[in-house]
Amino acid sequence: ERIVAAGADELERAAEAALRPRRLDEFVGQSVVRDQLSLVLQAALARGNAPEHVLLSGPPGLGKTTLAMIIASELGASLRVTSGPAIQHAGDLAAVLSSLEEGEVLFIDEIHRLARPAEELLYMAMEDFRVDVVVGKGAGASAIPLSLPPFTAVGATTRAGLLPAPLRDRFGFTGHLDFYSADELERVLVRSAGLLGVVLDPDAASEIAGRSRGTPRIANRLLRRVRDWAQVRGDGGLDLRAARAALEVYEVDPIGLDRLDRAVLTALCTRFAGGPVGLATLAVTVGEESETVETVAEPYLVREGLLGRTPRGRVATPAAWAHLGLTPPRAEGT
Ligand code: ATP
Repeated sequence: ERIVAAGADELERAAEAALRPRRLDEFVGQSVVRDQLSLVLQAALARGNAPEHVLLSGPPGLGKTTLAMIIASELGASLRVTSGPAIQHAGDLAAVLSSLEEGEVLFIDEIHRLARPAEELLYMAMEDFRVDVVVGKGAGASAIPLSLPPFTAVGATTRAGLLPAPLRDRFGFTGHLDFYSADELERVLVRSAGLLGVVLDPDAASEIAGRSRGTPRIANRLLRRVRDWAQVRGDGGLDLRAARAALEVYEVDPIGLDRLDRAVLTALCTRFAGGPVGLATLAVTVGEESETVETVAEPYLVREGLLGRTPRGRVATPAAWAHLGLTPPRAEGT
């Protein structure tokens, strides 16, 4: 797993749990979504109703799961967690829905990956608080309508565009999470350091924030690695020297590029004079599958304005040459 990956495995999620904000006012940044959500929740609490269903969209590691947990805790409700891929059949979802208690929050992660029959069952449950439980098989099967207590569905998706319109329309509120600014990440880091019981110097916070790709999950992960370095090779203090030395060990450069990102850019500039070059050729040059280069390295390089995708192939931008400290070849005729 790359140290700058936006996703997390189960083990890492366990380490993350200790750093999760529990209340909306502890949740750093995303001021628009936070403000809108706060209104939805306060209004529902004042009316004594379950709030409308909430859809959270945005890239991994920006806080969708954290917000779902915060919604439940702000409402004083319990949270049930499931995910699109975990629900194989509509019956699995019917079982979860029919065991919900009044006011519970049902979090469905990766909701865009629900199978179609489960999706249809969910529409009905969200709209009418009812499911049809199918009993028996074949010609003898019959549907028994079952009413559900009011609940709030919170869906999370990295791909809001993949959700069919009927499902999207059943959410009364949609919050889109965006990448965090360096300043917001510094605040995430200072908060996390406090929870880890370590003191983080402001310039170290700023150094780590600059390498975290706008993503709190990556910021927290880098912070843990800097803490390791400080403990083992430093004097325990999380200062600028520790931050730089630790992140050098992990090959994360000052703007958050890792070894693969830099290999792609370097090949593009030094082997292909900045392109354009086809994806397959570029991938072979760095010894990776095309898919890895396309899905793992390129999105951040494109986002940072370092690499362009053109119909004739990949090109390095002037910012890429500058970042690598290289001079682009002079265009013909100049
Ligand atoms: P995925 O799509 O991979 O499930 P996610 O968007 O649900 O990711 P979370 O699991 O909620 O992301 O967040 C990842 C980590 O980042 C958690 O440890 C969480 O504490 C931290 N984090 C996320 N957002 C914030 C925030 N706004 N303030 C403080 N910490 C945050």
